[in-house]
Formats: sequence, structure tokens, C-alpha cells
Amino acid sequence: AEETLRRTEKLAATGRLAASIAHEINNPLEAVTNLLYLLRTHSAIDETALSYVSMAQAELGRVSEITQQMLRFYRQSTLPRMTDVGQVLESVLDLYQSRIVAAHVTVAKKFSGSPGVFGLSGEMRQVFANLIGNALDAMPGGGQLVLRARRGSGRRSDGVWSEGVRVSVTDNGSGMSRETMARVFEAFFTTKQATGTGLGLWVSEEIIRKHSGSVRVRSRTGMPSGTCFSVFFPDAGLKVDQLEVADATVSAG
Ligand code: ADP
Repeated sequence: AEETLRRTEKLAATGRLAASIAHEINNPLEAVTNLLYLLRTHSAIDETALSYVSMAQAELGRVSEITQQMLRFYRQSTLPRMTDVGQVLESVLDLYQSRIVAAHVTVAKKFSGSPGVFGLSGEMRQVFANLIGNALDAMPGGGQLVLRARRGSGRRSDGVWSEGVRVSVTDNGSGMSRETMARVFEAFFTTKQATGTGLGLWVSEEIIRKHSGSVRVRSRTGMPSGTCFSVFFPDAGLKVDQLEVADATVSAG
């Protein structure tokens, strides 16, 4: 889970970088493509030179394919859209399928309707990948994972009551002490010495805040033990200033 998480975090940062590079590359690429076309149709060109130009065109076509793909991928993953949270949870479960089977974890999905909310799907997916990854970490010897998602009301990050989507991730794993619970959202706080980054919940809370949402944790270590993270994403919660990068990419593209 930590490896997946590190990769998702890197992907978000790398994605932005890749998209801006792809965009910068596009203009000179267009220019070279046009020049090669002129060269190709130039009357003085001989057979050999023509074959070189053809090869150059083919290679350039590949570069252009790669940059286009990059831009498409970046737009897909970062533009806000109506997001079915049930579908997001399903895709995260797919990601962890082999771990779930190997650890003998049973999964109960309690989605009512198709709970949708306007948001950054890729980042929302990252939140649930972190929560579900942590739940699996807490149940190395098997257990039950319960995922709930439904429309309902909840508290926004500014304290205002609102309609939106409520999601919870519950495990019957190790649970955590009060001291741990008080610190889980701190950056670099981890109890997983060898494998933890302590960034999963910190990043998750940042993403939830960006959507004006809220997150709550309840946990117990006794018998029975377990942890429940409840997340609320309000309608119309996405803060506009967070969308600058995505908007810039679109208008420039
Ligand atoms: P990491 O998973 O890399 O340690 P996180 O920020 O995701 O970083 O989690 C911080 C800490 O919170 C974990 O090290 C663990 O102690 C605790 N924690 C989070 N989720 C759970 C859970 N479902 N059950 C028990 N402990 C948890």
C-alpha cells in the first residue's frame, strides 16, 4: 500500500510536470512537422533525402502521439467532474484485489444508489486508496472491510451543514491508541517503521479540505478492535483557486 501510495503521490506531481512539458514541446513539434513537409515537397529533393525525411516524420509522429497522450491523461485525471464515489471505491478495490484475497479479507459494499459529487476524481481516488490501504495494513491476518457510500448531509470544513456524499471505510483490524489517533493526520507520523511514509492521511486530509469536506476517525484497540474513517464531500465544495492549474492547461490547449 505504501508503494502504491508513494506512486500515486509522485504521479500527481509528475503528471503536472509532464503536462507542462508536453505542452511546451507541442509548439516546436508543430514547427518541425511543417518544415519536414516543406522539405518533402521541395522539388530539389533526391530519393535518399526523401527517405530520410520520411523516417524523421514517422519518428516525429511518435513524439507527437506521446505528448498528446500525456495531455489527455492529465486532463482526465485532474479536471473536476461529476464523480460516482461507488465507482471510485470499486476501482480502488480492483487495485488491492490480490492483497485482499491473500490476506483473507472479506469486503462488504454498502453503496446506496450511485452517490455522486462534483470533484477531482483522481484525487478522491487517492483518498480512498490511502484509507483502504491502511485498513488492509491493520488486518494482516484477515478481517472484514466495510465500505459505505451514500448521499446525505454533513459538515463542511467551514462548519456549515450541507448536502453531499458520505463515505466510510471500516475495518476490524488492530485499531489504534488515543495517542496515535490524535496524530494520524500529521505529516510524517507513522507507526509502520520500515514501510510507512506517514503521508497518506496527511495528503488525504489536504484533498478533502480542497473539496471543503471533512474527515473523522473513530478507533478502538480492545475486544473487538477496529477503525472507522468517515469522509464527507459536500456539493459545490471544490474551491475555485485550486483549479487554476487545470484551467490554465485547458485554455492553453
Ligand atoms: P502510513 O500508512 O504511511 O503510516 P498514514 O498517514 O496513512 O501513513 O497513517 C498514519 C498512521 O495512522 C499509521 O502509521 C497508523 O499508525 C495509523 N492508522 C491509519 N489508518 C489506520 C487503521 N485503519 N488502523 C490502524 N491504524 C491506522
